[in-house]
Amino acid sequence: MFTKILIANRGEIAVRIIKTARRMGIKTVVVYSEADADSLAVEMADETVFIGPAPASESYLIADKIIDACKQTGAQAVHPGFGFLSEKAEFAQRCKDEGIVFIGPNAGAISAMGDKIESKKFAAAANVSCVPGHIGEIADTAHAVKISEEIGYPVMIKASAGGGGKGIRVAMNRKDVEEGFPAVRAEAKGAFGDDRIFIEKFITSPRHIEIQVLGDKHGNVVHLFERECSIQRRNQKVIEEAPSPLLDPETRAAMGAQAVALANAVGYDSAGTVEFVAGQDKSFYFLEMNTRLQVEHPVTELITGLDLVEQMIRVAYGEKLAFKQDDLKINGWAIESRIYAEDPYRKFLPSIGRLVRYDPPAEGEHGSSHLGAYTVRNDGGVREGDEISMYYDPMISKLCTWAPTREAAVAGMGRALEDFHIEGLGQNIPFLAAVMDQDRFKSGALATNYITDEFPGGFNGTVPTDFQTDVMTAVAASMHRVMAARARTIGNGLAQRGVREDWVVFVDKQERTVTLVDGAVGLDVVLSGEGRTLSLTETDWRPGKPTYKGLLNGRAFTVAVMPAAEGFTIRHRAAKAQVVVLTPHSAELHKRLPAKQAADTSKLIISPMPGLVVSIEVALGQEVKEGEIVCIIEAMKMQNIIRAERDGVVKEVGAKAGDSVAADEILVEFA
Ligand code: ADP
Ligand code: ADP
Ligand code: MG
Repeated sequence: MFTKILIANRGEIAVRIIKTARRMGIKTVVVYSEADADSLAVEMADETVFIGPAPASESYLIADKIIDACKQTGAQAVHPGFGFLSEKAEFAQRCKDEGIVFIGPNAGAISAMGDKIESKKFAAAANVSCVPGHIGEIADTAHAVKISEEIGYPVMIKASAGGGGKGIRVAMNRKDVEEGFPAVRAEAKGAFGDDRIFIEKFITSPRHIEIQVLGDKHGNVVHLFERECSIQRRNQKVIEEAPSPLLDPETRAAMGAQAVALANAVGYDSAGTVEFVAGQDKSFYFLEMNTRLQVEHPVTELITGLDLVEQMIRVAYGEKLAFKQDDLKINGWAIESRIYAEDPYRKFLPSIGRLVRYDPPAEGEHGSSHLGAYTVRNDGGVREGDEISMYYDPMISKLCTWAPTREAAVAGMGRALEDFHIEGLGQNIPFLAAVMDQDRFKSGALATNYITDEFPGGFNGTVPTDFQTDVMTAVAASMHRVMAARARTIGNGLAQRGVREDWVVFVDKQERTVTLVDGAVGLDVVLSGEGRTLSLTETDWRPGKPTYKGLLNGRAFTVAVMPAAEGFTIRHRAAKAQVVVLTPHSAELHKRLPAKQAADTSKLIISPMPGLVVSIEVALGQEVKEGEIVCIIEAMKMQNIIRAERDGVVKEVGAKAGDSVAADEILVEFA
């Protein structure tokens, strides 16, 4: 076996590869850019090599620097992770020429599959079912319209070199093609340096289902079943699972057989993924093959018990696969949630900054979902205090749960998301939790338009359920009691007085009178008007702690608690409320107070993140309608269009193209 390998990547995937290498007794070398000098991967690696400035184009993407680093450290092989150089055939070839083993497929397979047009031709020849369309380049807009009309609308315009959801657009009609074709072409040229475009039928309300394949250098190929990745936003995966709730054993076997046939046809000799779009009727069509380890590979590992990184290293070394197709079985169900640095409450705008708090749930078995035990795995590459920078992918970590059934894995994910606490930047945990709580998600009725269907107006949190209102009531009462007891021991004047036991709790506007009684094992919150008691046990809270964990009437929960001007803001999953605990007398006064008006910021257009102003689209005195573009800010490799939230006349413009702006800086003010 190899004794030392180099990891040409960063973040969570570098950490993930180090873990497997260590277990196999292989030493690791990690390369790093200026932005990653203090990263977890650098801390964990046996050796490190500095390769240059933060932008990937000046560090992680330069093959020469990676090859030099191998020579300098004596690394015998390179694992490219995903992204960066992982799907560059020239890099795989270059490694081979230099006598370094590329831990991935052979260069021929990468180039055959790396291009969407070429790979479709290959797939068609291997009898793999393809999306109906035009498998070839398109010369100009007129040609694009002609082809779209032959295929029949809706169609999808795609960049042949596209990836990661970029260079893709749906066209419903002729006008969309006339606008979309030049746009996709320009985007493809900018992002991939390749403007070849093709067009295929758009499958309405499809599901994204992909087959994991694994081959060795001795002609053996197996598949490790499917993953369903239908929960996507802007064609980017957000939640993935294995197996798929859509497939039956026959469809699974048919898809698996096609994936293996394609892998065999290209002489595939590593881990790879054959992606399909599937109709709700279980028809399926080949999309593309990803010739690398996939971001969502952990769910496959959780249901097969195999370590895909280990398998990639073994086959790269020349070992034969130690198992046959018939040896493989699906065990239970696994779900992955991608925790992204983005603000779900602000249209998912990227959010960067320091992880002031980063406290993921413990890995391993948990016994506390109401549907039984579940296992947590969290693939992360950051520690508390680390920065999520604008240079790389905004993923913070990949949170996975496993359980014997889908129901229990989903329930476990809901709990695991409750137990994940992050502060310092926007993150999508409340959004992910909202999905886990939706009946449609629980029923497995997935589709790639799930998020646009279920969150048509964007995400604004959810209204607390009865259980959540009970949790918030009990938690607030309990915290208030702890603090009152504390004040009694500290303050002199209060020393002789006992802690009152009758309180009024407001959860937003909902008012409840409670009596607190020491229960046999915890705190009993008697709901006076309702003839019910909330029994709070196994609590761990102390003043200053940002989360409160406990059991409410035996059911486990964790909430985030933030002190507010009056009382607390409490969040359970996607539901957030202002909670105030008062004496019956103060409650009377409280109710008579006029409701506080939130500051009116609708006249201001504020930069949602630090970035570069690409353009300001409005001028002083201009009348602007709601929804019109006000300015464009570039951050994290993405152009973010900022629109007016209401009609108005521009009173002041605070920035111009080329300016760097901080988060919350005022860009434009309306009269
Ligand atoms: P797909 O290519 O089907 O969208 P993925 O969602 O797994 O598959 O990955 C999207 C693209 O972005 C791929 O090219 C992948 O290599 C890259 N990518 C995704 N997440 C990361 C990440 N955290 N770091 C680096 N590259 C990433
Ligand atoms: P990328 O390389 O960016 O991953 P894909 O070809 O895999 O590009 O497409 C990304 C996503 O777009 C898929 O996961 C799927 O949801 C959707 N998609 C792609 N092609 C089609 C199609 N023909 N019909 C419907 N949806 C599609
Ligand atoms: Mg894809």
